[in-house]
Amino acid sequence: MNQGKSNPSAENFLPTTANSIGIITGYRCTNRCAHCLYACHPGIREEFPADWTSRVVSSIAEATPHAAIHIGGGEPFLDLEGLKELVREAICQGLHLEYVETNGFWIRKKDARKMLEEIREAGCRCLLLSISPFHNAFLSTDDNRKAYHMIQEVFGEGGIFAWHPAYYPFLERHPTDRPIPLSNYWGKFSEDEIFRQLTQTIYLHPAGRAVFHFDKFLRRRLAKEFFHKNCGEELASPDHAHVDPFGNYLTGFCAGLTVGHQSAFDLKQLFTEGIPLKNHPILSLLTNATLGDLHEYASGLGFRKSQAGYISPCHLCAHMRTFLFFLNGKEIKYPELAPTAFYEEMRKGFAVE
Ligand code: SF4
Ligand code: SF4
Repeated sequence: MNQGKSNPSAENFLPTTANSIGIITGYRCTNRCAHCLYACHPGIREEFPADWTSRVVSSIAEATPHAAIHIGGGEPFLDLEGLKELVREAICQGLHLEYVETNGFWIRKKDARKMLEEIREAGCRCLLLSISPFHNAFLSTDDNRKAYHMIQEVFGEGGIFAWHPAYYPFLERHPTDRPIPLSNYWGKFSEDEIFRQLTQTIYLHPAGRAVFHFDKFLRRRLAKEFFHKNCGEELASPDHAHVDPFGNYLTGFCAGLTVGHQSAFDLKQLFTEGIPLKNHPILSLLTNATLGDLHEYASGLGFRKSQAGYISPCHLCAHMRTFLFFLNGKEIKYPELAPTAFYEEMRKGFAVE
C-alpha cells in the first residue's frame, strides 16, 4: 500500500485520514478570477445527485468526525437554499463547521442582509470573505468593504475571516465604485512588488487558471526541470482536502485530480482500504513514479510539451492531464480526471484540440 511515498510495487493508494475538509457546493461562480485553482466561472452548468448533501456529510461524520470543516465553491451563496440545507445537515451531524467562503457578490442584492441572517440562523458562525485584486476585478473595493462590514454586523466581530487580510489596507486606500481590471491594479506596482505580492502576501498558488496569467511575473522553466517530482505526499495529504457533490475527493492543490471516483461518499473505505492503482494509471504514475514518467506516458499518446516551458510542476501536470482528458474525444476514460468543467476551462488556456 502506497502512503504517499514512491513505491513501484504498491497496488493501492491510501491517502492519510483528512484533518481538514472543504465541502465544495459546486464549481459555478459569479466571478472568473484569474487565479482560481478550480477554474470556476459563471458559465458552468452542473447536475448533482439529489442526495449528495446528506451522503457527503454522513461520509465525513463517519470517517473523520473531528475534522475542521469549511464550505466553499464556486460561490456557495448562488444556491442559498442548498447552502442552508448543507449547513443544517453539517451541524445536525455534529461536524465542526469553521466557516463558509464567499466572494461577497450578494452585497449588490436588496436582500443581502436577509441572506446572511438566514445562513447564520441555519447554524453558520463565521464567513470567509475573499479580498484580493483578483476578486476586485469583479466586485468594486467599495462593495467589498460594504460586504465586510455587513458580515461583521450580522455575525459579530469574530464572525468574519478575510482572506487575505494583508490586502485589506488596499481596499481602504483605493476606494472605487467599479471593479478594477487586473491590468489597472498591477499598473500601480513595479514587477518586483508584484512578484512579492503574488508570492508573499496573496499566496498565489501557480496552478489551476493562475498558470495562464502569471507567467510574465513567475519565471518559466523547461519541462525537464520538473521531471524528478513525485506527488505521493501532496496526493495523500490530510490537510485542507476537498470533497464535491459528484463524490470527488481532492487533496493538496491538485485541482482536477480525484482520489477515487465517488470516494467522497465513502471516506471511511477510502481512508482504510485506499483505491486500486491499476484502474487509475495517472494517479499511479504521479504517486509511484514521477512527472517525467507521466510525461513519457503522455508523449507516447501524442502529447507535445510547451517549448516555452512551465511556471511550476502543477502547470506541466495540468497540461498533460488536459491532453489526456480529451484524448480521442473522451473515449479513453481516466476516472481520476474530474470534474469535466475544470478540463473544459483548462482546455481553452492550453489550446488542446
Ligand atoms: S477564486 Fe473564488 S470567487 Fe474567484 S472564480 Fe474561483 S471560486 Fe469564484
Ligand atoms: S504536479 Fe500535479 S499531482 Fe503534483 S502537486 Fe501539482 S497538481 Fe498535484
